Amino acid sequence: MAEAKKNQKPRTKRQQEILSQELISEVENKFSEAVQEAVALRESVFENENRYNIDDLAEYFTNTSNELKNRILPLEKRRYVIYLRKSTDDEAKQVRSIDDQRNECLDLANRLNINPSKVTVLEESASAKKAGNRAVFEEMIKGFQTGKYHGLLAWSPDRLSRNMKEAGEIIDLIDLEIIQDLQFKTYQFENTPNGKMMLGILFATSKQYSDKLAVDVKRGTDGNIKDGKYNGVVKKGYYVDNATNLFVPDKYNWGLLRIAVDMRLRDGKSNTEIAEFLNEAKLAVRRTEEDDYKLVKVTKQMLGNVFEDSFYCGLYQYGNNIVNLIDLYNFIPLITTDEYIALNAQVSTDFGRSTKIKTNRNKRLDYGLLRNKVICDFCDVPMQFQNTQLKRGKNAGKWSISYYCRNKDCLRHDKEKQHNQDIRLDKSIRAKYVLSAIEWELRHATKKSKKAYNLYIHSLETKLATERAITSRKLHEAKQELKLNQQRLAKFSDMHVEDREAYERYHKGKIEHHEQLIDIAEKNILDNSNRLTELKTALPSEEEFYELTNLHLLDMLQTDNIMKLEAICNELVTNLRAGDDSVSVIKLNPPYNMLVDLAEISTGRGDRIRTCDLTVPNRPRYQTAPLPVTDHP
Ligand SMILES: [Zn+2]
Repeated sequence: MAEAKKNQKPRTKRQQEILSQELISEVENKFSEAVQEAVALRESVFENENRYNIDDLAEYFTNTSNELKNRILPLEKRRYVIYLRKSTDDEAKQVRSIDDQRNECLDLANRLNINPSKVTVLEESASAKKAGNRAVFEEMIKGFQTGKYHGLLAWSPDRLSRNMKEAGEIIDLIDLEIIQDLQFKTYQFENTPNGKMMLGILFATSKQYSDKLAVDVKRGTDGNIKDGKYNGVVKKGYYVDNATNLFVPDKYNWGLLRIAVDMRLRDGKSNTEIAEFLNEAKLAVRRTEEDDYKLVKVTKQMLGNVFEDSFYCGLYQYGNNIVNLIDLYNFIPLITTDEYIALNAQVSTDFGRSTKIKTNRNKRLDYGLLRNKVICDFCDVPMQFQNTQLKRGKNAGKWSISYYCRNKDCLRHDKEKQHNQDIRLDKSIRAKYVLSAIEWELRHATKKSKKAYNLYIHSLETKLATERAITSRKLHEAKQELKLNQQRLAKFSDMHVEDREAYERYHKGKIEHHEQLIDIAEKNILDNSNRLTELKTALPSEEEFYELTNLHLLDMLQTDNIMKLEAICNELVTNLRAGDDSVSVIKLNPPYNMLVDLAEISTGRGDRIRTCDLTVPNRPRYQTAPLPVTDHP
């Protein structure tokens, strides 16, 4: 042990080089044209429609992660629960009746702009003095843990918990940000260590009980972590606004990263070449607008980490939390979601055909196709998605998608049993059989159902209403930001004139900072106003809706892009059962399931003979999935 210790190199603290003002001006002049071009190109990329939105990506991360991911939602998307509890006789004097509690909590929800359709009211009659005595409370906690609820309203803290175990459960859920909002009629809860401690004391006044909570809350977060704000990790290309703790693009350095993205996606440059460029252009970071710039020594690994960080398209991940920053505030992403996917999915989507970008990473964004939706008809276990390269035959070298049954107890793996039943089964099924079955199902989705149309319109309306509420809030916030920063800019400009020395000493950089925030606010006002106009689009007519399945079918037949195919399949298919080179049952998502003409299709396990002939046999598109997103000019 001692020997090993002696051989260790002494840890030298990495001294980061502070960039001088002269050097900053020099490189900014040298590269200003390239940065401007890259920012202009970014504008046009963002104007084009994105195939994937951030929620698709968030869903992907949630579905493919081994750990449970907690999605942090903006107010407009949260579902709230109001928890009411009756008083026992001895406390009845001070406490409102259950009807009063309900009315006042609903009133509170209304004042907080919570959508009434997203509020559930739970009413407990049992006493809370002993733990485990409250079935409704347990149900509510489970609701939070499974993502059914995100926010909690109660009349006062003592309605919520009267014993240590339950108080601990609530505080834990707040720490984990599984309870994303907590509001009381009688008390304003603040999500800070002090706020949590106060809450603990209010939950009950027993001494040992609040002592325990005092220790517990210390383990918690510093309250800063909430709502997509800076939590201690600096992101290259951005700095943190001291006043709001929100991320702001750091003009020049942000522009450099944008050039880096173009070099990789459009010019096919290697990470080493890009790192060289960024070092030459002196990529630097600062924590807030008040800090000095520190030089970054860019390596290809570091660049790889930047490209892999979904923060840059607006999906912020920390701990087990996952936040859509675009919903939360007027965050300016560096790249589109499609660009993020292109940066990370290149290899898995074109199955190694592209040689322009070399990577030896194992961690790749693997969208897959119908992941976990193909169920083995012989053993009821979801089959594993896999791509394999064909070794023999005329298609040798090409890639084939298939689904493999991992269940070793399945009939697919038991050759002897198969022999006895006089059948031969493959352990896997090729994707082409699965896809042609979906096509076949869609061809029979010809029934006209008013109910299906209504369901579709309702879900569309709900989605649009949420979008409108988010955009209106962001527009309002941008207008406030504009006003605030104009005031601050005026203040610092005056100071600059009146007492230049004091300004240089204490507030250097503030003028540029507020000028930039004004630019950003103006752009956000414009963008959000335009978005609101877009969201006023007319909803599809009934006839257009019936046409929709045809359009999906056409899309499926025409696309040669595995990611697009996956998006269509996700929209349409709940799951399906795969037999031997055939599909026995397909469950479509509502409302599409209501359109299937049952008279023409008999579904059921006895119907396994149905083989769903390939529309175009051995169509190569199911064997090779060509390049996504980027076309090289
Ligand atoms: Zn099986």
